[in-house]
Amino acid sequence: MNFNDLTKYTKEDKEKRKLIDDILCVNHSFKISSMKLMSKGVEYSDIAFDSVQVTKYCPKCGREYPEDENFCFECLIALKEIKSVDVRDIKIKPVFDITKTNNYDSFEDIFSGENLEKITKFDFKVRDLKEIINSIKLTAFRRLDGAIKENDINLKYLSVLDKVTLFSKAFVELEYKSYGEELGYYEFGKIYVDDRQSDALQITTILHELTHFLIKEITSHILCHILDCSKTTQIESLSVFILSYSALNRLMDEYAAHTVEGRFTLFGYQDYSSYLSIEKTIDLEPDEIEMLKTIGNSFANYIKEILESFIDRDMLEDIKEQFRRDVMDSPDYRNLSFENCTLLNNRGMVQALKMIIVDGFAISMDNIDTLMEYDSQW
Ligand SMILES: [Zn+2]
Ligand SMILES: [Zn+2]
Repeated sequence: MNFNDLTKYTKEDKEKRKLIDDILCVNHSFKISSMKLMSKGVEYSDIAFDSVQVTKYCPKCGREYPEDENFCFECLIALKEIKSVDVRDIKIKPVFDITKTNNYDSFEDIFSGENLEKITKFDFKVRDLKEIINSIKLTAFRRLDGAIKENDINLKYLSVLDKVTLFSKAFVELEYKSYGEELGYYEFGKIYVDDRQSDALQITTILHELTHFLIKEITSHILCHILDCSKTTQIESLSVFILSYSALNRLMDEYAAHTVEGRFTLFGYQDYSSYLSIEKTIDLEPDEIEMLKTIGNSFANYIKEILESFIDRDMLEDIKEQFRRDVMDSPDYRNLSFENCTLLNNRGMVQALKMIIVDGFAISMDNIDTLMEYDSQW
């Protein structure tokens, strides 16, 4: 496989380029300290507004009322209590089902000659990728909507960490850990987040691990599309294998997670260590590494589309605000010059997916033991 063949299918990622150029060319110490002052101003005025004790709200117009009121005079409906919900306890149990008549529940069945032929032919278009992204989005949104209604949640009263937590639970199970040095990790349908971190770092970690999950999910959907089969744990295990067996794929996956993290928090504050530790193990020419980053960046752009449907401009500002409040370290702008600002065009994206999946599928056929081991983990 030669990723460099993809060079002709690239274009500049103008949005990311601008974002990074903007960060690199302003005077940061001034910008950040003035933002801190500004945020203090906001907090003080908030306190002044909150001096009227409101405990109820109108579910229709959102107007807030004190304890002794029972109806909204404007809408003539009963008020609801502003409840404090612990989103950590909410279970959404997201499932992205694909059900077809082909229901492979053994690796021997998946690795038939006919399937190998289908994979090699790789009849898959960007239109199909967009459909997959939409169906993942739709399923998650239905679930999120259901969870909000069921638990009587008013998003307005959630902290930004709670909103991100709730949102991510519409995709993947989230568990907390309070041991070890890793900020978080993703493994077999679950993300684990260390809750000893600040709110800002928990948000970054959740978005990072959610990206790993989504790349796996998209890969499984592509496999099901091409093999015209249901999504079984065997297909999921195959995706995990494809994305992790080679350092090249791990680097691509890690760079995507890293990029999404930066886009929704603040570039320059991301942790480059997991990416760099993989890069160290790879013996590639710089332009080959750059191409892997381009693939990762392109993947990140699709994931960004999923996340943007929930994380709108206001919420993005709230996340950044949380960052300015929590993060004391100064950002590492030196790393920003290593950021890749290139995207694959539609054709290039399909070619890249083809390379990753065709090679991964062929190699997985010789690694059934590893696949079985993965399969026992779901
Ligand atoms: Zn009302
Ligand atoms: Zn990672």
